[in-house]
Amino acid sequence: MIIPLAEQSKTYSVLVVEDNLLMRTILEGHLRDLGHPVVAVENGRQALETLQSNHFPIVITDLVMPEMGGLELCSAIRERRSEGYTYVVMLTAQDSKDEMVRGLAAGADEYLVKPVHPAELAMRLKTADRILSLESSLKKSYEEIKALSVKDHLTKVYNRGYLDERLVHEVKRTFRFERPLSLIMFDLDHFKIINDTFGHAAGDQVLMESAWLMGISIRQEIDWIARYGGEEFVVVLPETILPGALVAAERLRARLAGHVVVVNDVEIRVTASFGVASFTPSSQKEDMTMAATLVEKADRCLYLAKKEGRNRVVSAQL
Ligand code: GH3
Ligand code: MG
Ligand code: MG
Ligand code: MG
Repeated sequence: MIIPLAEQSKTYSVLVVEDNLLMRTILEGHLRDLGHPVVAVENGRQALETLQSNHFPIVITDLVMPEMGGLELCSAIRERRSEGYTYVVMLTAQDSKDEMVRGLAAGADEYLVKPVHPAELAMRLKTADRILSLESSLKKSYEEIKALSVKDHLTKVYNRGYLDERLVHEVKRTFRFERPLSLIMFDLDHFKIINDTFGHAAGDQVLMESAWLMGISIRQEIDWIARYGGEEFVVVLPETILPGALVAAERLRARLAGHVVVVNDVEIRVTASFGVASFTPSSQKEDMTMAATLVEKADRCLYLAKKEGRNRVVSAQL
């Protein structure tokens, strides 16, 4: 795994927890010399308070302190949820294997023997840097994989799994706030002929471009589009009553009908048929079947649009 340069050169901020003023001042000085932003507090309780409002990737803590010691602080850090990993270095007295073991058992990653040797401190922080950089690149990969897992591979719009899951949440929201919700289902017309005439790869290209065009033709950050299956898509329009959804569907229909997909110098035109279903709850009492009902109704309208000649919009109010 390649760790980006920006991550490598990062100097993480450090929280120093030490009751001894002299020791605290010396540590702060060393850390600043190494380029780390530092905040220093006097005991575990103050450290936890500070950690509540700010994330410190590195905590260097003394063991014995008034109010709350290092072991208790370390356990508390491990128990809480934070935005990223906290690398904990425990300060121990010279020749105390016992303290070191108890520190590591409480969840510390490393220990440093007092008085702190600047070069040793620098090396410990290098290890911390490596672990923290690794953690952040793993987190980034995880976010990327998560983002990919909700998208359809071919068209890059949301996939069916995401649609099923999110639509239920949209419907819940609709009931909670008694707000309208509309759903458009559309299906490319005579798509089988496109495949048969121009080949499956050209068909794929038409599918991709159609999904892309529809995706950029909806309200960004509000409406969203998913591939329902094959050459069938769903657009969800929160906060939208039927007349608004009809305007949106008509706009999508006209854009697609006016679009030309060029594959190997061949111009391919495609249209789609649209079914629109809208719904506004009259009470906050949730109807658990509403997501399925909306899809069914839109599907029914889509069927009628096909039957009435294709390349058209049919709608219904629930
Ligand atoms: P209608 O207007 O009634 O919807 O006719 P249609 O030909 O579009 O409908 P039909 O259900 O008969 O055919 C759908 C076609 O879509 C058949 C299927 O092979 C094709 N298809 C589904 N998914 C993909 C895909 O990912 N890529 C390609 N190239 N074709 C696909
Ligand atoms: Mg102390
Ligand atoms: Mg079709
Ligand atoms: Mg179909």
